[in-house]
Amino acid sequence: MRPFVYDHPAQRVIFGIGSIERLADEVGRLGARRVLIVTTPAERRFADDAARRLGPLAIDIFAEAAMHVPIETARAAREFARRHEADCCVAVGGGSTIGLGKAIALESALPIVAVPTTFAGSEMTPIYGITEGGLKKTGRDRKVLPKTVLYDPTLTLTLPSKIAGPSGMNAIAHCVEGLYAEDANPIMTLLAAEGIRALTRSLPIVVREPANLDARGDALYGAWLAGTVLGSVGMAIHHKLCHVVGGTFNLPHAETHAVILPHAAAYNRQAVPEAMRIAAAAMGAEDAPLAIYDLAVQIGAPVALKDIGMPGNALDRAARLATENPYYNPRPIDYSAVRELLENAYWGKRPAA
Ligand code: NAD
Repeated sequence: MRPFVYDHPAQRVIFGIGSIERLADEVGRLGARRVLIVTTPAERRFADDAARRLGPLAIDIFAEAAMHVPIETARAAREFARRHEADCCVAVGGGSTIGLGKAIALESALPIVAVPTTFAGSEMTPIYGITEGGLKKTGRDRKVLPKTVLYDPTLTLTLPSKIAGPSGMNAIAHCVEGLYAEDANPIMTLLAAEGIRALTRSLPIVVREPANLDARGDALYGAWLAGTVLGSVGMAIHHKLCHVVGGTFNLPHAETHAVILPHAAAYNRQAVPEAMRIAAAAMGAEDAPLAIYDLAVQIGAPVALKDIGMPGNALDRAARLATENPYYNPRPIDYSAVRELLENAYWGKRPAA
């Protein structure tokens, strides 16, 4: 057995249909009296609802969260929180919203109560990201880890299939890479396998029967586990590629994960047979990379970089950027193999068996 270190901070998780009704109690439990609510313009209605539930505890809403947390937005939100003397931040929305809550907490150590409305998993991680001058810098700091997370599947009911599917693939990616992380440990392996299992069985139902609340709850459960894995162990080539390629060419986040994952898994297939066996078994399949690709097709997630805005003449540059700084991956990073991976992902080829 491989030796390991398990060092996982505690978080309070309230899970279930209607758990949003406990928002005021949960905020009160933290001793907060001046709550700032953050969200995106598109999800303003969730923030208004949260404000109504919080009553006099809510001081104001900052509804300007944006994808990848632009530094200007982070600064404006921090100033807004300071001016209002906020003592707690309720972040209700997807990864972009929770990312903004984290940017505030990074400076102020304001406790965050996260209410996720997608399957991205950011609410379970101490990872923050802020974009400045077109470059997204990420880091880890336990200050930004939400203290309390309310998972309520009813809040995902409005998430359209075309966002829900890729968002779920984003969560599966955290689990798959968690299985072969450099610092993998047996607890996170259990969570990763269960996360893949829950998402594989629920996502096809979520996109086929959008009103099926049980399936949405199951997907949210998978997303919770996936976020826990992402926050606890290191990632590898898949996340590096998504970060570099997605960031450089401004591709949509979750869709980039959906496209790259089968190819990243195929890249590592021979190097980590046990991780692949666990992932395949969790998907009820023989081969993980093929099963991941087939799931993406089944749920209508994009499978080709060419369909999500990747310029066809940029693959050399993308491969160079993805291979120039050394990072952990179970199979050594090799320019021509990564170039081939990107070529396959560009055209949306099913990985070779
Ligand atoms: P997002 O928060 O940008 O949301 C995607 C879209 O869905 C937006 O248009 C949003 O308005 C809409 N939306 C969200 N919830 C909705 C709902 N319930 N109904 C209808 N529409 C809804 O995207 P995301 O995929 O959740 O998160 C992506 C971002 O999160 C990226 O910036 C990524 O880097 C970050 N992220 C960070 C971590 C971390 O650990 N730090 C983990 C995962 C993702």
